[in-house]
Order: sequence, then C-alpha cells, then structure tokens
Amino acid sequence: MIKIDKALDIIYSTIEKKSKHIVPIEDSIGLVTAKEYRASFDLPRFDNSAMDGYAVKLNDAGKAVESREIIYAGDISKESIVDGVAVKIMTGAPIPKGCEAIVPIEDVDFLTKTSIILPPTIKPNAMIRWKGEDIKSGKVFLKSNTRVTGYTIALLASQGITHIEVYRKPKVVIFSTGEELKAHYEKIEPHQLYNSNAPMFYSRALELGCDVSYISSSGDTIEELKASVKEAMDSDLILTSGGVSVGDKDFTIQAFKKLGMEVLFSKVDIKPGKPTTFGKIRSSFVVNLPGNPLASMVNFEMFVKPIILKLSGTNSFYHPLITTRLRDNYKFKAGKYTVILGEWDGDTFKPLDNQKSGMVSPLDRADGMIVITPDVRLLEKDKMVKMIPIKISMESSKKCDFLIR
Ligand code: AMP
Ligand code: MG
Repeated sequence: MIKIDKALDIIYSTIEKKSKHIVPIEDSIGLVTAKEYRASFDLPRFDNSAMDGYAVKLNDAGKAVESREIIYAGDISKESIVDGVAVKIMTGAPIPKGCEAIVPIEDVDFLTKTSIILPPTIKPNAMIRWKGEDIKSGKVFLKSNTRVTGYTIALLASQGITHIEVYRKPKVVIFSTGEELKAHYEKIEPHQLYNSNAPMFYSRALELGCDVSYISSSGDTIEELKASVKEAMDSDLILTSGGVSVGDKDFTIQAFKKLGMEVLFSKVDIKPGKPTTFGKIRSSFVVNLPGNPLASMVNFEMFVKPIILKLSGTNSFYHPLITTRLRDNYKFKAGKYTVILGEWDGDTFKPLDNQKSGMVSPLDRADGMIVITPDVRLLEKDKMVKMIPIKISMESSKKCDFLIR
C-alpha cells in the first residue's frame, strides 16, 4: 500500500504536458500558455495626460494665462508650451513639448473664453503618465505555463497580439463498470442503479478544462471491460469507476493489464478509496476509481485533479491549501489516513455530518476536504486545519461590509 503523498509524487513526476497549438486570443480563455510573451513596445506608448486639463509651465502657478485649443487623445501634438500659455488637453492625449505639468480642469478658474487662472501651486510632472511606466518594452508580461484569464486577454490585446501558443486541452475518456448501472436517460428497474459517477467525472473534468467524452458503461466480464478499454484508448487520460475492489466481479484492472497497462501505483493508504489505481496504457494515463460515489469523488479530487492540471500544462498543479479553524469538536476513530469532506464558510471548517463512501448527497455540499493521520482521535474546536478546496464560491448570498477602516 502506498501513502497519499508518495502516490502524488508519482503523478507529479510521470505526467507530461501535452502538445501545443496556436489559437486566437479570444479562444484561449482557460487554456495554458506554452511560451512566455515579451512586450514589443512600451506601454503607455508615449507620455500622455492622466486627466482632462491644461498643459502648463510651473512658473505660471497662480497666474492668469492664455488658454489655447485642445489636444485630443489620438492627436499628434504640434503645440509647444511657453510661459503665459496653457493648452487644453484631454485624457490620453500626447504631452506637448515644454509641458511641465497637467492641471485638471476642476482646478482652474475661467476668466474669459481664452484665459484662465491657474492654481497657486502646481507640482512638477503632475498628472502625466509616462511612456513605459506600465509595461517596459522587452519585459516578460505573460509567463509560460500560466492559465489565461479575461485579464490576460487585456494584456495581450494591449500589445497587439492576436494569436497565442497554448497547450491542447487534455483529452479525457470516461467509462463506468457494473451490470447494475443504467444511464440517467434510461428506464430503470427496481434492482438497478443510475450511473452517477460517469456524469460526475464528465462534468468535473469539463470544469477543469478538458475535452471529455464518455462511452457507455461496461458490464463486469473481462471481455466487456476489454472492449471498453479499447474504445477509450485514444486519449490522454482514461477514467473508470467500479470493479477495482476485491469482489468476485472486480475485473477492471485485470482487463487493463491484459491490454498492456503498466501499473504505476495501486492501493493507496486512504479512506475512502483504497483500491484507487494509476497506470499507463500506450500513451494514455489511466485512473481506476472505486464505484462508491463519495469514494470516487474524494479520489478524483485527490489524484485526478492534479493529473488533469499537469496535463493542461500549468505549473500550478499542486493542491492549494486554505488554513482555517474547526467550527466544533470532531471526534474520530480512524486508525487510517482519512479524508473528511466539509463545509467552509470562509472562516471555519465543519465536517459534513453524514459522509459514507456509498453516498451521493454529501458530494455537492462539500467545499473542501481535510486529511487526518491515523493517530488522530479528536480534532478540537478552533484547531487550525489545512483544507484542500474543492469548490470555493467567488460569490456570496450574504451582504458583507468590505470596507477596511
Ligand atoms: P464497485 O466498486 O464496482 O464494487 O461498486 C461499489 C458500489 O458503488 C456499488 O454499490 C455500486 O453499485 C456502486 N457504483 C458503482 N459504479 C457506480 C456508478 N458509476 N455510479 C453510481 N454508483 C456506482
Ligand atoms: Mg461493480
């Protein structure tokens, strides 16, 4: 039996990034950059005004000066500023020659149509945005192996970049095993069970940015299983659920092995989900997860998520941790490395009341999971725990006071 951290180390060291391709930047959201990008020019491209105001000489502070007509954003300025003259300038317009500061319109008094009084003090270089103060030409503005967000798109567009090189989405194929299973769109008999794992893996892999397909669930014979494995073969990752335990019909791993799977680890010191198996068959990685829904979900989060992240090309493929407090005492009789699902309210973690490995209802309630070692008997209220997030909402149903005073 392998420890959780050793199993993860095997994943971290064996999974490789996928091939690259070039896409229009608008299609790159959620994908991962396959090279770094350097600025090919300064941003701002030229010194320009940060306000609608007047370009002035410092000597003219507190004086009445002639006000000349306007330099707009997009103009090429031919004006020069000399003592006794202010030129009206709009935000983003190029700073004219001789200008020593911009005075905002709000700070001047109007004498006539063509003359204004400037404020008594004017700071040198006030309200000027300098060429290159945002991004210097030649600087790396986007690193390789980084996930593209809407804000990355702003950066790329500001440099006039229309296409970027990204890693291909991991291609994931999913199938379940079990004679008792029916697809959720089929009629069901009393002794049968809807397959909830395959749609769950499908959706979660989609959320993590994969190209996913699922093939129909397999019966429990070696022949049926082998047929499903062959169908799934042309992918980066094959995910299965069920048939990995010690039951009389648990042939999933045997079928994969018969077709050449190299087992990289099997049987993890984790509760729930001990039979979880990781391997490689031709160029596809394989994870065989247990059939029990909660066990398969926990092991998906623990092992499959990092696999998908690493296949995606990102450098951020480790589990992030949120340090938080335990809401109440939590008594325990484990004796094993145990994963506990819980709710997190942004402040405290509360283990879900009812979380048995065959259940479905806890899955959607879990915000994160904690892992406790075999010696733990009691987790006391307010103890700091490290939570691996599963779903952290960036939205709130509570109105909060966010001001810092
Ligand atoms: P197994 O790992 O095949 O022994 O299955 C363990 C338990 O999980 C059994 O009660 C199965 O009926 C159930 N199960 C297996 N596969 C699925 C699935 N895809 N969706 C929901 N439950 C499943
Ligand atoms: Mg089964």
